[in-house]
Amino acid sequence: MQKVFEINPLIFAGMEQKEKPEIRDLKPGDIQAFFQSRGEKKYRSDQVLEWLWKKGAVSFGEMTNLPLPVRELLQQAFTINAARMEITQTSRDGTVKIGFRLADNLLVEGVLIPSGSRATACISSQAGCPLGCVFCATGIYGYRRNLTAGEIFDQVVALNELSVLQRKKPLSNVVLMGMGEPLLNYENVMQAIYRLTSETGLGISPHRITLSTVGISDRIKQMGDDRVKINLAVSLHTANKLKRDAIVPVNKSNPLSSLSSAVKYFYDKTKTRITFEYILLKDFNDGISDAKELAAFCRIVPCKINLIEYNPAGKDRFRKSSAESMNHFKEFLESKNLIVNIRKSRGADIDAACGQLANKSKNR
Ligand code: SF4
Repeated sequence: MQKVFEINPLIFAGMEQKEKPEIRDLKPGDIQAFFQSRGEKKYRSDQVLEWLWKKGAVSFGEMTNLPLPVRELLQQAFTINAARMEITQTSRDGTVKIGFRLADNLLVEGVLIPSGSRATACISSQAGCPLGCVFCATGIYGYRRNLTAGEIFDQVVALNELSVLQRKKPLSNVVLMGMGEPLLNYENVMQAIYRLTSETGLGISPHRITLSTVGISDRIKQMGDDRVKINLAVSLHTANKLKRDAIVPVNKSNPLSSLSSAVKYFYDKTKTRITFEYILLKDFNDGISDAKELAAFCRIVPCKINLIEYNPAGKDRFRKSSAESMNHFKEFLESKNLIVNIRKSRGADIDAACGQLANKSKNR
């Protein structure tokens, strides 16, 4: 375990004033109205928004093109509850795991995953998760609260800075695959995605952002209605009802039939190819009969399948599939003309599985 760098605590000055509204929760019109009510020019609002969402400012002191009295005015009225980097672990394979401390002292996780010329940020959308998938360390951590759009955004800014610092390259991709079910925090996640992709934000291409869901059918449809053109990954893990009920409890309220029609609906609205994620668990879902069920399920839309090597979350009952089983599984799917990739587990020597770092911190 290696600590790579510390972040300057001074830039988080003002976080302690939690009773003040978090300025990033406000609508642009509210900030404009605030300035007008104080006799300030309307364009101050655009300047502030640019600092917050394009430059990633985490204190009003950084907003140097605002006159000092305006910065003081903001400081008195608002706060910026930025997520703050605290724990860093670096794996032998280059994966870096970050603990982000929130203003109310909760810890969430982000991971920087370098791969060749690419670097992917894996970020969290909730502190903990209420869904309790049995193979997932976040489920053990329990659910605390939804992250704000600002806290989701902060993780990307920080991991991008880390990528530039370590690799001299910005992030190539962002995946919402860390702690939490993003579609249970729909509004804040969509607001964060807007700020990440907009020209008035970080300007990241939506095609470089992937939202991973365990399958909240209504919200997948809503993404279709809202024409959210990012990549959608569905964490399927099995296409067998009984097996899915056993490992993904939300399958009982969002059964495979409703998930299937929601995914089809999203595809029809956005024409975005779906990714199905499938963690291969030894002697549970890695047989050829499982591959047959998966192939039949995936036919509903143009898709690709990511077979994921399991990274054990602790004392759970699952083990990772053998290389031989993984290859047989892949070959069967390919024989059905499906596009299949095997994703090796990253950061196995650190707490890189979702929720492990936060769990350890909680236990301490
Ligand atoms: S796998 Fe995802 S949805 Fe399931 S408990 Fe973990 S974080 Fe929540």
